[in-house]
Amino acid sequence: MKRTKIVATLGPASTDIGVIEQLINAGVNVCRINFSHGSYENVLTQIKNVRAINHKLHTHVAILADLQGPKLRIGVVENNGVELIVGKEIVITTKECIGTAERVYITYPQFPKDVKAGENILIDDGKLLLKVIETNGEDEVKSVVVYGGMLSSKKGVNLPNTKVSLPCLTEKDLKDLDFALEHNVEWIGLSFVRSVTDIVDLKAIIKKKNKSARVIAKIEKPEALNGIDNIIDMSDGIMVARGDLGVELPMEQVPLVQKMLVRKCLAASTPIIIATQMMESMITNFAPTRAEVNDVANAVLDGADAVMLSGETSVGKYPVKVIEAMTRIIKNVEAEESIYYKEHEPTTRNQTFVADSICFNACVMSKQADVKAIVTMTNSGYTAFKLASQRPQANIFIFTDNESLLTTLNLLWGVQGFYYDKYESTDQTISETLEILKNKKLVVEDDLVINIVSMPMKERGRTNMLKLSQIK
Ligand code: PEP
Repeated sequence: MKRTKIVATLGPASTDIGVIEQLINAGVNVCRINFSHGSYENVLTQIKNVRAINHKLHTHVAILADLQGPKLRIGVVENNGVELIVGKEIVITTKECIGTAERVYITYPQFPKDVKAGENILIDDGKLLLKVIETNGEDEVKSVVVYGGMLSSKKGVNLPNTKVSLPCLTEKDLKDLDFALEHNVEWIGLSFVRSVTDIVDLKAIIKKKNKSARVIAKIEKPEALNGIDNIIDMSDGIMVARGDLGVELPMEQVPLVQKMLVRKCLAASTPIIIATQMMESMITNFAPTRAEVNDVANAVLDGADAVMLSGETSVGKYPVKVIEAMTRIIKNVEAEESIYYKEHEPTTRNQTFVADSICFNACVMSKQADVKAIVTMTNSGYTAFKLASQRPQANIFIFTDNESLLTTLNLLWGVQGFYYDKYESTDQTISETLEILKNKKLVVEDDLVINIVSMPMKERGRTNMLKLSQIK
């Protein structure tokens, strides 16, 4: 079993149930559905296919519904592409029109109010750069082309210097969120998070609808970095969305931001996904570049919970090969001992100190005693988040009677989940869960194992007990 998880974006290349099954067999742990593209009908097919395969293979592959957020776009342009020439002026208008090299529409009504002269307008992932000359503060902005090239319809726009006055959840997002929650997806990705209140607002909606989906904050705006500690604390997961982040920030800053975010997430026990362009060349080629192999390997070495694929699996020519290659890279790096044991001492005397201390010490003991597995029961998932973030070399086996939680936890580094619904006594639970693992040959005679549980069992409280034993 590899420890670092793989998130694969589904799309036309991977909606077919046979392909999804191959992806899962090759190592996919979470399927991402990008609500920027595709109809509800397609999304529903993808959700149903993933769940049918989970049923067939007894897997717990989770679904991540990624909301588009306030992504700015230009409108349709004539001939499906016009050339922007360096030094020429171009007007950007909030009045809908077919775009030309002199005038294009933007899907952002407050644009003329929010921008100022001198600010940059980046289009198509930063391939084109315009600079604002002046705005009429109403419906038109005059700009000049700094880096030109072909501009095609509906390309994304980034405004790295502008304070964008759009809500984090747009009308489209609210509709998509409703749809995703109605179908009980396990994770919701929130794009262009700017502050912790974006997360608080989304969580309030999920709670009001009585759903348990967890929230991933996509870090792709410089503003998010200013309040990053609060965002990490409030979110259930973080995604380093390097595509937009590398346009909004000078791209050379992204590698160190990635390392800083992984470090903070490990300390906060918040899972972190590294996303975008990891194996980009495999959209068209059957093998990755050496630089891509290094990028994936470095994300594993940094300590990411998961690595993500976008176009490679959604529209690429080799969706299964890309997962096979990624799995091989991950397994090779995971043979290296230095990726394990990132224990962080718990804060004393806070509300969760007892459980935190047990998880921390389970990891320390597993190293000292060469333990093969840490086994635990969880009701809320808390123990799984805490244990995984210590990165023990021992396997992490989690038992719960909550099917949806099992699937949710599949994103977390190293976590393997099993269904178990008897809460009779500590003795019985320990012996039965070990028996299940023995039958699956996940532990064998003489292995040392650690069980951590909450006593008394029936109260279903937080973890408060640790047992070290040898498999008979
Ligand atoms: C990104 O920008 O890196 C990203 C993952 O976001 P999206 O693919 O939704 O644009």
